[in-house]
Amino acid sequence: MPSATNSSLMRLKNEKTILSLINKAPISRADIAKRTGLTKAAVTIITEDLLSRGIIREEKSEEAIRVGRTPILLKLCGDALYFVGVNIKRTGIYVGICNLCGEVLSEEKFGIDLPVESLVRIAEVIRSMTKNLGLSEDKIYKISVVTPGPVDSERGVILNPPNFRSWHGVNVTERLSGSLGIPVMLSNVSTATAVSERYFGSAEKDGGFVALLVDEGIGSGIMLGDKLFKGSCEIGHITVKFDGEKCECGNSGCLEKYASVPNILKGSPYKSWSECVNAKDGEIMSREAEYLSSAIVTVNNIFDLERAVLCGDISENSQFFTTLVESKTREKMILKKDFRVIGGTVKSAILVPCAMGVYDFLS
Ligand SMILES: [Zn+2]
Repeated sequence: MPSATNSSLMRLKNEKTILSLINKAPISRADIAKRTGLTKAAVTIITEDLLSRGIIREEKSEEAIRVGRTPILLKLCGDALYFVGVNIKRTGIYVGICNLCGEVLSEEKFGIDLPVESLVRIAEVIRSMTKNLGLSEDKIYKISVVTPGPVDSERGVILNPPNFRSWHGVNVTERLSGSLGIPVMLSNVSTATAVSERYFGSAEKDGGFVALLVDEGIGSGIMLGDKLFKGSCEIGHITVKFDGEKCECGNSGCLEKYASVPNILKGSPYKSWSECVNAKDGEIMSREAEYLSSAIVTVNNIFDLERAVLCGDISENSQFFTTLVESKTREKMILKKDFRVIGGTVKSAILVPCAMGVYDFLS
């Protein structure tokens, strides 16, 4: 019946809203009702169900006892669910498992091969990890795979990322779920990086931000409050020079042609961004900051964000550089003067895909 379907969907939506709140910090039932606008009775029904399923637990709040308030807070049970993460990079493949609180329980890295061989190896590693940890299938929420973009997340297909030709057109989700019998999701690594910084990194507070993943290319993901901007967000292909170099995307003068790590270091003695930072090469860092701040301002003029988070190679030893990007960004900004630029803090290649699994569970 349509009404039953609508009511189930509403219940699920309310459950996810409540879980998202509990995920931010332990919270009482009364505060959940206040923050969500749900009735206390509705909050009680949903939270009792979550308690009985072992997804949340009760905890006494010493602070609340001290000020004479209801002392019971609700907290997520980290081990209620597990998330398998697979990060397929051009340089290697990372497979791991984390719990709901982002604790990595197991991880392994191996070299990248052709897609068929690599996917067989990934499935073998996942089987052996879940067996060693004693995890039953019903405890695993999903397998979350991230790869260089662009990808078609709906179909689970890698589209046409540059320097990744042998993986073009590969349906990752079909092949992995077929051999493991667990649902699989596929995301662009840049998008997943933004989500990982929200849940496990430097962008835990509310508010919109753009995460820039700057390494051999430039990708980005945007969080608007707790919601991921789902559209394509190809910040690497924002034009920074109208009469500039022709780009593989068909446009000219794209940011990536100048500000990716290999391109900004071209002609310099440095083999990596960290070498450049350690040498305190002000000229290169200033030029890079100029490019990135232009792109950040363009994005902010559309989305009205609060922060930019620099991730990937560019986030190494980032304090001086992020301050430089922040000051150049503020100079060019029309919308806000208190905009912050910070360095990403998620260093685990496993937490990036796992964060997408957690996001899928909570939203
Ligand atoms: Zn381009």
